[in-house]
Amino acid sequence: MPLDPICKKIISDNTEYFSDYGGKSYYFCSPECKQKFDALEKSVIRLKRNLSEKERISFGKLKKDIIKPGICTLCGACAASCEYITIEDGAPKLVGPCKACGVCYYQCPRTITTEEGLIGSFRFAYAARSAIPEIRGQDGGVVTSLLLYALDEGLIDSAVVTTRSKEEPWKPVPVVAKTREEVLESSGSIYSHSMTLEALMSAIKQGMNSIAFVGTSCNIDAVTKMQKSSYGFLHLFMRAKVLKLGLFCMDTFSYEGIKAVLKSYGITLENVDAMKIRKGKFEITLKDGKQQILDLSEFDEYRSSSCRFCTDLTAENSDISFGGVGSPRGWTTVLTRSALGYEIFNEAVDNGYIEARHLTDDELERVLNLAKMKKVQMYDLNRRQKK
Ligand code: SF4
Ligand code: SF4
Ligand code: SF4
Repeated sequence: MPLDPICKKIISDNTEYFSDYGGKSYYFCSPECKQKFDALEKSVIRLKRNLSEKERISFGKLKKDIIKPGICTLCGACAASCEYITIEDGAPKLVGPCKACGVCYYQCPRTITTEEGLIGSFRFAYAARSAIPEIRGQDGGVVTSLLLYALDEGLIDSAVVTTRSKEEPWKPVPVVAKTREEVLESSGSIYSHSMTLEALMSAIKQGMNSIAFVGTSCNIDAVTKMQKSSYGFLHLFMRAKVLKLGLFCMDTFSYEGIKAVLKSYGITLENVDAMKIRKGKFEITLKDGKQQILDLSEFDEYRSSSCRFCTDLTAENSDISFGGVGSPRGWTTVLTRSALGYEIFNEAVDNGYIEARHLTDDELERVLNLAKMKKVQMYDLNRRQKK
């Protein structure tokens, strides 16, 4: 009797659902399991395609990405892989005709060449949007819808989210949301640091034992450390399950900095309805419906210094990650990572809270490209400092 490789159930020989892959047949209990398997197979093919692109990589790329920025460790792997490379004067040098086979680049311990190296491990990638009419189309609508599903089903008793200060418009305020209304208030992106960990500790101390935590990569990493370290609050974290919902994050800016730049354009934060960073632009939607699009470089001096050293675009330590890059406008890219994250997301889809489809290869490629920019930004920093 065959075993369904997805749900691990023993199934009947005469099941009508099967797929052929790598010269072998796989059998499934249902069309859903077959669909999941086929999607997985697609991602393996995509990875193979990415690897085949190494043929276009030459020594020049190794020089540009690794040797020139000064991050070569002089391990000699490139020279050992190619007769045309030698180590001379403390650096690898090309001494023959490069055939652009990419081998040196793929051998180098400093390059990042795999999907997992760029965005961490994940089960499936989706484009999703809220299926709840009053939330649909809103920035952050998928996270909000997932939280509402988890609250409605009793899967969580609260969510740590970031909302906006009532006294100082757009100033981030982390809160412990326990009701639909409180969750709905947290919808929308804010581009300043939010001290969400304080709210998480408060939720645990209040006796919450199943908490969804929404935060950027650095905040998710802080939770992950607290969950693992025996030198701190493990005694508290033992008492609460935390579902980590990570937000893609490229940068944050000081609150005062955002305020100052907008003021120079005659915009006060009281009049701002939504903010969005997209393709190097800071898009401001005003309450009267007008839009102001500013170049992101205008905010550069207010960029949080920690973000210059951050290499994690997609919140790799989350149960589920969410972000604007990759998917079309109005949709959110979702990476389900842990088993728990995968199940909750798909339950929210099955129960009509979220609409989702698998991300296409081209859409995922866009996520990978931005993730790569972020991974290597430290190299650029080194180069800038040398000038
Ligand atoms: S391994 Fe040699 S031939 Fe291949 S890309 Fe590197 S330098 Fe060029
Ligand atoms: S493989 Fe990379 S780190 Fe090692 S010597 Fe060559 S360029 Fe330097
Ligand atoms: S860029 Fe990195 S360090 Fe900066 S807020 Fe985002 S996740 Fe945190």
